[in-house]
Amino acid sequence: MSTSSFLLNNGVEIPSLGFGVFQSAPEETAAAVTEALRVGYRHIDTAAAYGNEREVGQAISTSGLSREELFIETKVWISDYGYDETLHAFDKSAGKLGVEYLDLVILHQPLPTNFRKTLAAYAALEKLYADGKVRAIGVSNFMPEHLQHLINVTNVVPTANQIEIHPYFQQKDLLALDTDHGILNQAWSPIGGITFYYEGDGGSTLDDPTIGAIAQAHGKTPAQVMLAWHLARGRSVIPKSVKAQRIAENFDVFDINLTPDELSRMDDLDKGVRRGPEPVSLTLESHGMPIPEA
Ligand code: NDP
Repeated sequence: MSTSSFLLNNGVEIPSLGFGVFQSAPEETAAAVTEALRVGYRHIDTAAAYGNEREVGQAISTSGLSREELFIETKVWISDYGYDETLHAFDKSAGKLGVEYLDLVILHQPLPTNFRKTLAAYAALEKLYADGKVRAIGVSNFMPEHLQHLINVTNVVPTANQIEIHPYFQQKDLLALDTDHGILNQAWSPIGGITFYYEGDGGSTLDDPTIGAIAQAHGKTPAQVMLAWHLARGRSVIPKSVKAQRIAENFDVFDINLTPDELSRMDDLDKGVRRGPEPVSLTLESHGMPIPEA
């Protein structure tokens, strides 16, 4: 099966389709990642806050794959923001993952109530990058004001911004801003998981009639055509599943060629309503939690 990759703005290659593990219970994570690696995924997206880096590391160590074949991405949680704290957060994550270096480390959220700490955390990522401990650095859930502020006062432009993007919430202005700065858009909830795994209004992308019709025309599933749409639009995707059949299904997308009309019909599904948390609403008081040592 042919796969594809993107070049980050520092020349590092990232597989275009990775494997997410948000809400994968620790006891399910090693098996899910093992299966993903068996199927052909080479990029894993985890986070200190997911509580499953150790299990991701178990799957890596038993995979038989060499470190160079893998692209490992993790995120620093807000409780570990600050220069020294974030340097130590790298040690904790790398220790649990059982690796010497990480391919991409991103700040999980902006901390608008203490942006000074967010900037200090990013300065630590710049140091880790300069020291060769991480191959690329980036951000997540950064809105235009956070991104612009960060770029104005730091030296290394983020390579990626991991944000909520699915057919029902497309953040087109933010996508354009990222692209203007050479920042790769990385879609979380790429098949719209956030539209169906919590209670809420607005419907599930999996049940969308337009997506369903396009899927049927290609003999594929709604999840598959959503992933193909992101890839065609130049976005990195990291779908999550703990089920072997879906892990394989979500990787079997590289032969889908959506027509310009199909792509624009999917672009038109945007409802402009965020389904995940408002990035500006997170504070240390509301969302802080200790990240255990390795
Ligand atoms: P996804 O869009 O990847 O959807 C995942 C959900 O869809 C799960 O409930 C999964 O259940 C189900 N599913 C997976 N494949 C299929 C399929 N083919 N057909 C039907 N249902 C399917 O949502 P996520 O929110 O998990 O986003 C993906 C990744 O992005 C995360 O795992 C995480 O790595 C990252 N992320 C980052 C965030 C951030 O703030 N930076 C926020 C949220 C996610 P099951 O496992 O039972 O198959």
